Amino acid sequence: MTTVALKDVTKVFRDGTVAVDSVSLDVNDGEFMVLLGPSGCGKSTVLRMVAGLEEPTSGAVMLDGEVANDLPPRERKIAMVFQDFALYPHMSVGDNIAFPLKLAGIEPAPRGERVADVASALGIGDVLARRPSQLSGGQRQRVAMGRAIVRRPGLFLMDEPLSNLDSGLRAELRAEISGLTRELGVTTIYVTHDQAEALTMADRVAIMRKGVLQDVGTPTQVYGRPATLYVAAFLGSPRMNLLEASVYVHLDRYVTLTLGDQALYLPWDDIRSRAVAHYHGERIVVGMRAEALTPVAPDSPGDVLQGRIRYLEHHGHESLAFLDIGATAIVVDEVGAPADSDTPFGQRGLRRFGQVMQRFTGRAAVP
Ligand code: ATP
Repeated sequence: MTTVALKDVTKVFRDGTVAVDSVSLDVNDGEFMVLLGPSGCGKSTVLRMVAGLEEPTSGAVMLDGEVANDLPPRERKIAMVFQDFALYPHMSVGDNIAFPLKLAGIEPAPRGERVADVASALGIGDVLARRPSQLSGGQRQRVAMGRAIVRRPGLFLMDEPLSNLDSGLRAELRAEISGLTRELGVTTIYVTHDQAEALTMADRVAIMRKGVLQDVGTPTQVYGRPATLYVAAFLGSPRMNLLEASVYVHLDRYVTLTLGDQALYLPWDDIRSRAVAHYHGERIVVGMRAEALTPVAPDSPGDVLQGRIRYLEHHGHESLAFLDIGATAIVVDEVGAPADSDTPFGQRGLRRFGQVMQRFTGRAAVP
């Protein structure tokens, strides 16, 4: 059983770099938490503080409810896997995996049993006699994982463990790692800059930028309802469309949303009206996922935005349409394109839109 809690943790390096800035984060027992963010945002430093390899400048790192700032790494019941998984080249695969057990003084018989169990769970049972140099990259990574889990740690820390592998293998190991840690019930903190990894593997994702925690939530939450504009623009491919709009609430209970030179009239009982009504007289940013916009015929009735397609991009399972609506460029998933759209390049109506981002861009002069 292991829980991790970071309370206002800050790390300032000697040269004055603020690598981690007041981060508070709870990781539950058995949870798979992914720290996601661009290079240099401080995710490895967070992980190293949890491991005890860096000391926080201020704040508390808590393990199982106890402040662990001064606890040496070896007393933390932690296993770490890094991207440059160093195996002992002169030892067999079996001996590599068994090594931590040997250090812990475990007898050969139970040691062999544990190694066999772990190797079979990782699908490397048939290569135990080989040397690391006789393995593929993926097999070597599995051995590194095996060596980390063989002592049954309470907490698993992984720093970009798949980044040196090719994309096919990465996808395969992604599923294996998340499956294995869940099977073992080990609390895991996994660092990556790869959002596909984060969204597919995590129970919850913590997104960082410049040392600051931006958002924490399940993959569905952070993708669907990002907490900040940064997260909205960072997550998802294609990126979320972000459009500036002006809001005007009419006393006879409807809302006008003006995007560029187009206005949408939203009835009061429309859920989107209530979402934007709070911003009466303001300019806001509206977030719309490509897949949340349904292309319809240009003359369709109702709250339809008009756009002109600039180009289409085919991805096999979907096509993306890049449109101009007024002065703004947006992208739309064409899966829902209407059957009567005989010409791919032309006017489109777009129905529905997504979320209001909580950002003001100043008061608008609304008529
Ligand atoms: P990456 O994905 O590239 O590993 P990261 O998000 O893990 O990046 P960190 O390695 O935590 O980022 O680094 C955060 C910031 O702290 C960076 O600006 C980095 O240059 C700086 N940094 C890291 N270690 C030190 C150090 N020992 N001394 C000074 N600055 C450091």
